[in-house]
Amino acid sequence: MALSLLLMSTGVLAADPEYYDIRYKARLNPEEGTAHVSINLEGGELPSELTLHINKERHLNIEGSDELEVEGEKVVWRPKGRRSTLQYDFVIDEKKSRGRYDSRITDKWAIFRSDKLIPPISARAPKSLQSRATLEIEAPEKWNALTPYVKDDSGIFQLNDPGRRFIRPKGWVIAGHIGSRQDIIDGTDVVISAPLGENIRRQDTLAFLSWTLPELKKVFPEFPQKLLIVMAGDPMWRGGLSGTRSLFMHADRPLISGNRTSSLLHELVHVATGIRGDKESDWIVEGIAEYYSLETLRRSGGISERRYHEALEDLAHWGSESPNLLVKRSAGPVTARATVVLHEVDKTIQKSSDGKSSLDDVVKILATERGEITLKKFRHLAEKEAGVPLPQLERTFLEGKKKP
Ligand SMILES: [Zn+2]
Repeated sequence: MALSLLLMSTGVLAADPEYYDIRYKARLNPEEGTAHVSINLEGGELPSELTLHINKERHLNIEGSDELEVEGEKVVWRPKGRRSTLQYDFVIDEKKSRGRYDSRITDKWAIFRSDKLIPPISARAPKSLQSRATLEIEAPEKWNALTPYVKDDSGIFQLNDPGRRFIRPKGWVIAGHIGSRQDIIDGTDVVISAPLGENIRRQDTLAFLSWTLPELKKVFPEFPQKLLIVMAGDPMWRGGLSGTRSLFMHADRPLISGNRTSSLLHELVHVATGIRGDKESDWIVEGIAEYYSLETLRRSGGISERRYHEALEDLAHWGSESPNLLVKRSAGPVTARATVVLHEVDKTIQKSSDGKSSLDDVVKILATERGEITLKKFRHLAEKEAGVPLPQLERTFLEGKKKP
């Protein structure tokens, strides 16, 4: 406080940021299978140019109060004056593969991602111009809507998007005739929500999180303060899908699988780290999610040491089918081998640092920095903690061409 007063009195402090408001509105139309979206801007000054990166199959009938330039999947919007509006229809139903939906609207509920509803937008504006943003979901009568954001008294979501000047909603949305259970777990406001009438284990899931989430948060202290878990049965995607401060999980997935890993914890690690791999580093992202799902169960007493080691042995056996980890997409045996490699890396760091460091210190840094991860970066961070070279992270070994 004293410092800022001093700076202000000497006139060094930059001008206070100027704000404009972004009001996102989505009206859900179950009959048409769409959401009618409007993006309203208002302020003394607006960004001079916005570029929306749309999906031509899902963002239809785009119109604006100011002239728009549409070029393939790019829409350029140049707001004029103090107010400007853009609107379009968003097709909600979307199949991921094998007839399974990762986005769906029925006459009773809707589940989709707000970062698909509102496409990525880049803005051209002076640095001092900042946005404030809200999202309003208009749904049929008696429908309720949830997102990983706080609602104000009139039911409008107050968005935040740290580090972004043009704020956009992110994460899962569930709306409709839904049932929810909420609890504060280790400082995180957790909501489990699913369409009514489906066989959903909301309480079991909340109880499972109440003993696993605190353990996970020791590794990832910056874990979101709000978490929305959306669940539904068929015909939705038969697995887990993580999003910003939220995830989707199919209702049939067990909390702990036969091989002693947990899809729910796996997705929670994705929520915690927020990292993605480059073209050959998805194994790091998936391996960390799988390894920390297993570690969290062990550390929280969910599985014994013996069953933990059995699980790693099973993964090693499965992973032997997949010698090369440096592939674009990590799944099945690639992730199994990745998990075992990370366990070896963890053991080596602990041993060479006399127990002072572990893989926890590496993933903690990754979760703080977020964004793209490469093998080079991961190796650099891991070897810094280990203080010695890690042969397990040599390219030839990861490609399966050499034993460590
Ligand atoms: Zn994953």
